[in-house]
Formats: sequence, structure tokens, C-alpha cells
Amino acid sequence: MIKILSNATLAQLYPARVQTGMDIALEHGRIVKIGKNLTISSPGAAIIPMDGKLVLPGMVCAHNHFYSALARGITADIPPSPDFVSILNNLWWRLDKAIDREILEASAMVGALEAVKAGTTAVIDHHASPEFIEGSLNVLRNAFEKIGLRGILCYETTDRNGEAGMKEGIAENINFAKSIDRKNDRRLIEAAIGGHAPFTLNDKALEMMKEAIDETGRGIHIHVSEDAYDSAFSHHHYREDPLERLNRFGLLNGKALIVHGVHLTENEINLLNETGSYLIHNPRSNMNNSVGYMEKIRQVKNLAIGTDGIGSDMFEEFKFACFKQRDAGGPLWPDSFAEFLQRGNRILEHYFGEKFGAVKTGYRADFTILDYDSPTPLNADNIAGHLAFGLSARDVNAVMVNGKFIYKNREFPFDTAEIYAQARKAAAELWTRM
Ligand SMILES: [Zn+2]
Repeated sequence: MIKILSNATLAQLYPARVQTGMDIALEHGRIVKIGKNLTISSPGAAIIPMDGKLVLPGMVCAHNHFYSALARGITADIPPSPDFVSILNNLWWRLDKAIDREILEASAMVGALEAVKAGTTAVIDHHASPEFIEGSLNVLRNAFEKIGLRGILCYETTDRNGEAGMKEGIAENINFAKSIDRKNDRRLIEAAIGGHAPFTLNDKALEMMKEAIDETGRGIHIHVSEDAYDSAFSHHHYREDPLERLNRFGLLNGKALIVHGVHLTENEINLLNETGSYLIHNPRSNMNNSVGYMEKIRQVKNLAIGTDGIGSDMFEEFKFACFKQRDAGGPLWPDSFAEFLQRGNRILEHYFGEKFGAVKTGYRADFTILDYDSPTPLNADNIAGHLAFGLSARDVNAVMVNGKFIYKNREFPFDTAEIYAQARKAAAELWTRM
């Protein structure tokens, strides 16, 4: 049946657009018509009044780790970590090893709930649980599907726990990708081929990742040069930049998701741009790990924004991306960051083979809906400014994915108290195990 969202304010961050009093007709999870007074010409349609609420194309978090959702406020005994590799050793590589099926279930469920509450319609996740690899991506898929959140999932292959663990990671990526029915245009979940980072992937692993990409038709999702250590390691052991090395194995293409890239050289940025690869910028995580600032964001052709496990609130990540750049003396204004934020939707297009990121006929009906009572005029010229200085996740009223409300009037269609209680229990268990 046709559904009409009536009297909406269509708002788009990039290209910027604001139109009031619009009706949006939806069918089979897509936008089929947009105009004024569609309600009158469509007898029998289900009319859903929007009362002027802002309807934006869905917010996409282009890099996240739901396995870290239970690390918030962690009180496990973490020794002082003076550098990036110590942070991995003392915190993240202890945490991921302590994850079992039950902990991952709880972590994925609250990760997905928190994302939707923040107005995020899709999360591109990068998963690690070395003691529970086989079947881990299905646990994540179940959580995404229960909540109705869209996602692209992968397992972080690494050789840091030996060759058997590395091969198990590759197998999990391939099996999961093959389990997806790509003919189903309403599927919520897609797959990428995950790798932790070049400094924990030997040549054999990279060779196998290339085979996995060829076999599944997906792209790589990997951290690169997050810290200067990754570059130094590559120069020391392979005498080349990390991205040159990935390129030598044929891993860069239009579906490649290269994460962080704080220390990329000019040469590596050229490689990124020539191959059409994406760079995912995670400003809060970079600041928190003190790995440096990605000064070259302006030179990257395909830049998108992720949170790297610090929740999924893209309003907040957007603000940090803007302000960090201003603080570093950069020349960009909020409208450039609106373009970066919007670009997460391009990644969905590559993986789902559908149109995302605009409120236009033919596009998927994934929307972030806000009840924003603006104290100043809002229009196409200043919407990025509203996003930098006002609009936030507290304005999220509803979230629609595939034409279905998964969150409406600030409520889920099921009780969430039990899910949060379960998560607190699992978090305590996880911290004890660490
Ligand atoms: Zn990450």
C-alpha cells in the first residue's frame, strides 16, 4: 500500500535544500512521488501527518565497532598507555578477546538502539572477537534486523593471534558475504571484507583478502595509518607506504573503505583518489587516541565520516569534525563537512546497488526525521550552520528505514528496558573477564 508522509519539510544537507509543505509518497521501501497535496490525489493511501517535521536523507555512520558498545565507562584495570600500540594491547585487544556470543549479542543490541535513537539509519561496522569468530557476523546481523537498522558488516581479519585465527577471520568474511541474498532489494544487511590494519596483516593474509574480494565482489574495510606506527612498521618491514602495499595486492577500488589515514603521504592520497577508494575520517577517536590530526582531508576525493566505536551520533561527530578542523587552522566551513557526512550514502549505493542519500523519487526511503523548532530562519544557505551550531540528536523524533518507521515519536515499537538491563549485566561480566 502507498504511504504518504504529508506536510513535511524536506531538508537536505548536501546539495543543500529546504522545502516546506511537501508530501512524500512511499511504496515498497522507495520514494515513488514527491509534491504538494499528494494526499488529495491518492485515495486509499495511508496518510501520516508530519506536521512540518524535517525529513532528511538518513544519517550514515561510515565506520563503527559495535563490539565496543559495552566499553563505556569501563572500570577494568587498564595500565597507563603512553602510545597507540599500548592502548591496543592494554585495552582493545584484551576487550575483544573477552567477547563471547552472549556479550556480543548484548553489545550489538544496545549499539543498534543507540544508533537509531541518535537518528542514524545505517552503520558500517568493523567487528573483532578473536575467541568467537565463526558465526559472529550473524549475531550482529540479528541485532541489526531486530531493530531495523541498515548495515554493512565485516570481520577484522588479523594475524596477531596466529595463522589459524587469520584464516578463520577470512572464512567468516567470505561465508557471511555469500549468505546474503543480493537479489533481495529490501535487504538491510550487506558485507565487506574486513582487515584490522596493515601492521597486523602479513603478505599471506593480504593475498587471501584479495581472493575473498574477488570471490565475493565486495570491498576491503581496514584501518590504515591511524597512528604513525602503521606507516613506520610498513617502511621498516616492507620498505613501502601501507597503502602502496595494499595497492600492490590489488585491494584498492571503488568499494574500499580505508579508515583514519591520519599519516597518509601525498603519494598515498593520490592512490586513494585514483582508485576511487573511500577514506573514513573519525575525528573524536583520533583526538581521544592522540594519534594526530588528518590535515589532508581537503585532498581526499571520497571522504566520509565515522565514529570508530564512540557511539553512532553523527550530529556530534559532525561538530567535532568541523571544530577540530577550525582549531587546526583549516579553511573549511560546515558545508564541506555536510558533504562528507552525506557521502556515507554513496558507500551504501556501491554495496546495495540502490539509490541513497536524497529525498527524491526512486531513492530508498531511509529518513532521519527531526522536530526542530528553530529559533532562527532555516534555509538551504544556512542548514550546515544549523547543524554545526544547533541541530543535534536531541531533535530526532523518528527514524525510517526501507519505508518503515523503526522509531517513532521518540519510541521503539517494543520495550527496551530489558535490553539495557541485559547490556549492563554483560558489561560487568566483560570487565571482570578482562
Ligand atoms: Zn576502527
